Amino acid sequence: MNAKNANDEDNKVWDVIVIGGGPAGMMTAGRAGERGHSVLLLEKNPIFGKKLLLTGGGRCNITNNKTNVREMVLKYKTGSKFLYSTFAQHGVTDSMKFFASKGIALKEENEGRLFPVSNSAKTVRDALVTYMEHSKVTVRTRCTVTAITKDEKSGLFYITLLNTKRVCAKKCVVASGGVSHPETGSTGECFTWLSTLGHEVQKNNYALVPISLKDTWVKKLAGIALPECKLTLYCDEKKQCVQSGKVLFTHVGLSGPLVLNLSKTIGTLLSQGTVTLKLDVLPTHEIGELRKTFQTLLAQESNKKIKNVLGIFIPSGMVGPLLEITGVDGETPNHSLRAHDRVKIVTCMKALTCTVNRLLGAEKAVISSGGILPTEVNFKTMESRLVQGLYIVGDVLNIDRPSGGYSLQLCWSTGYVAGSHI
Ligand SMILES: Cc1cc2nc3c(=O)[nH]c(=O)nc-3n(C[C@H](O)[C@H](O)[C@H](O)COP(=O)(O)OP(=O)(O)OC[C@H]3O[C@@H](n4cnc5c(N)ncnc54)[C@H](O)[C@@H]3O)c2cc1C
Repeated sequence: MNAKNANDEDNKVWDVIVIGGGPAGMMTAGRAGERGHSVLLLEKNPIFGKKLLLTGGGRCNITNNKTNVREMVLKYKTGSKFLYSTFAQHGVTDSMKFFASKGIALKEENEGRLFPVSNSAKTVRDALVTYMEHSKVTVRTRCTVTAITKDEKSGLFYITLLNTKRVCAKKCVVASGGVSHPETGSTGECFTWLSTLGHEVQKNNYALVPISLKDTWVKKLAGIALPECKLTLYCDEKKQCVQSGKVLFTHVGLSGPLVLNLSKTIGTLLSQGTVTLKLDVLPTHEIGELRKTFQTLLAQESNKKIKNVLGIFIPSGMVGPLLEITGVDGETPNHSLRAHDRVKIVTCMKALTCTVNRLLGAEKAVISSGGILPTEVNFKTMESRLVQGLYIVGDVLNIDRPSGGYSLQLCWSTGYVAGSHI
């Protein structure tokens, strides 16, 4: 853009200014532009969708295959009562059709998670950028917003930029994200602007966050995934809950959908006492049956070493650490393995015990909790109930949800609905 064009744009009254070029902002801007509005999108990073590129380990769990609106909204817990009208206008099926029309075919993985067939979050980001281009959205990257004010007389929004310039619009959309992974651009300054405009902001915290463990052996398991693990959670040795799903070992502790979804509960329990977890690595084997199968295997492979047969039951990368935890010498021939060592190994596979140190922080959280109260937004349009012409979408909203594509679906639904009503 040359200086003259930039000046023209600075003096213009835009129909809509969208703050934030993440998934929610791009969807809103594309949809509003498609409907013929003049739209300016402001993004502080040099590129769009920096966080979107990280999603699903770079593969983008784009949504979840729950096409029934009622069933889908229930996943958003206390937010479900607000979201029905939003999802009824643009739900999972609509998002699937939307992305199919942009050339993004989807495939289903565990627990209904949908991913692009390309296995690439970049293809999703690029499709949204193209959508904005086709909708004639004007975009400005490297453009940080520092404040929003509304002139009550004219009803216009004035958006102040870091270079102290102001841009002006009839409607303003806040799509600048929550506070997780701040290096992607979502640093939470929008909550100050929104509070100045009269909104109540629920204190931000971290949700869907990995945990660190006190057990130092965990780093030896880093990178190992247990697709079906049963986890029992204890606080001061009192059983709290049992849940199953995928667990991932990291350099400092545990992650994966099962742990992320339990992180809020773990956080609460940590303030009450010592939190321990028992991981059942082989949940489909009942312990008595596992003991027998293990014993039979040892007899059949009696001349092999114990370290060379355990891989039949558990991922090979777990064998060394598991032997270390149990104190059994991996060089022991199977025929010489003592009965109490056999019991220790089976017990460890059925109840690998670890102690939680803490929840990791913002830099590791998938989403943040807190944000704008849903009671202050009209979910039929995504317009603020307090400030006419102001729209709020995506992670800025205080809506609880599990891992599994539900966060991005919230962006597609709230963004599309906002763009359709502006
Ligand atoms: C590691 C990781 C993996 C994830 N995986 C998944 C997944 O597989 N599936 C899923 O559903 N969800 C996933 N999520 C969650 C998902 O990424 C978010 O819910 C989603 O990105 C929120 O979109 P948003 O547009 O609301 O905000 P963001 O994506 O945070 O975008 C906000 C944008 O606003 C910009 N911005 C902020 N402040 C300003 C300002 N002052 N001026 C100008 N621009 C500003 C930021 O730079 C940013 O680009 C994951 C999150 C993380 C961190």
